[in-house]
Parts: sequence; C-alpha cells; structure tokens
Amino acid sequence: MKDPVCGMEVSEKNETTVYKGQKFHFCCASCKWAFEKNPEQFVKT
Ligand SMILES: [Zn+2]
Repeated sequence: MKDPVCGMEVSEKNETTVYKGQKFHFCCASCKWAFEKNPEQFVKT
C-alpha cells in the first residue's frame, strides 16, 4: 500500500483512516492528520 500523502510504501500495521468506504494507510500520524484535514486533495477519483 501507499501513503496517499507522501507516496511512501507503508504496511497494513501503520496508521489508517477510512474515507468514503475506502481504507487509507499512512507512514505516520502527521500524514494521517494532513489527509483528514483535506482528504479531497489526496484522493483521486
Ligand atoms: Zn507519509
């Protein structure tokens, strides 16, 4: 999986969040925070 914020490869065990029924994984809490602040910026539809 890929961190949608920074593009790093991340494992299932890392920070996660669910947005519009899709699960996203993050390398760290700050990437998760950035995503949750503005998910539309990182989600490609
Ligand atoms: Zn990251």
